[in-house]
Amino acid sequence: MRERVVFSIGEAMPPRGDVLDRMGMGSPAPVSTRTDALIEAAVAEFERLAEPTGLVDDVTAEAFALVYAGEGRNSHETPLERIYPRADSLALFVATLGARVSARITELFAADDMARGYVLDAVASVSSDLLADRLAARYRERVSDGGTAVLGYSPGYCGWHISAQRKLFERLGPGEIGISLNESCLMQPLKSVSGVLVAGAAPIHRFRPEFSFCANCTTRQCLPRMRSVR
Ligand code: SF4
Repeated sequence: MRERVVFSIGEAMPPRGDVLDRMGMGSPAPVSTRTDALIEAAVAEFERLAEPTGLVDDVTAEAFALVYAGEGRNSHETPLERIYPRADSLALFVATLGARVSARITELFAADDMARGYVLDAVASVSSDLLADRLAARYRERVSDGGTAVLGYSPGYCGWHISAQRKLFERLGPGEIGISLNESCLMQPLKSVSGVLVAGAAPIHRFRPEFSFCANCTTRQCLPRMRSVR
């Protein structure tokens, strides 16, 4: 089943605490009046410019194997190659905030307005991740019998090479919501997310982060993700 999702601005608006975390200001200490004003201004611009949209399309494990393999550049062993064969179901996804937010961020940086550009970038980045979470929640509602956990996995992370985006885009065709790939496999608009939604029992999403590439990982994002599906 292929589904196009148009999100409301409210659904795309990230919690303020998450934006502060992204800005490295997640401590309980109060933020300055200037930071407060920058966040308020960024939120207002976000409300005015964002056009949050997503696309989800079911994919069989056999078809996904080709997407996953991409151009043969994945790491030797990855979490996803162990996880997806144990899934109950899979769906490819993309979501975007539309061209106007990304263009505005570029414009602010080009004008040397670093502070406003940085805060709007933080709001948009957290929002993009939120859209992926919202698509995962919708997909879970559709396929779940109650005990299903759904997480999204994206090319460019945890050993799944970014070049797999090409196969993912060939299969999903997200041009219909205005997303394309550049030569480096980066999405345009920049504030977009893509990947595969993996539905199955929670234990399939658990692994020890001891892959070769984990030594260089600074985020360890897999840990809170795994905790989120317990
Ligand atoms: S430690 Fe980092 S690179 Fe390794 S699986 Fe977790 S998030 Fe991915």
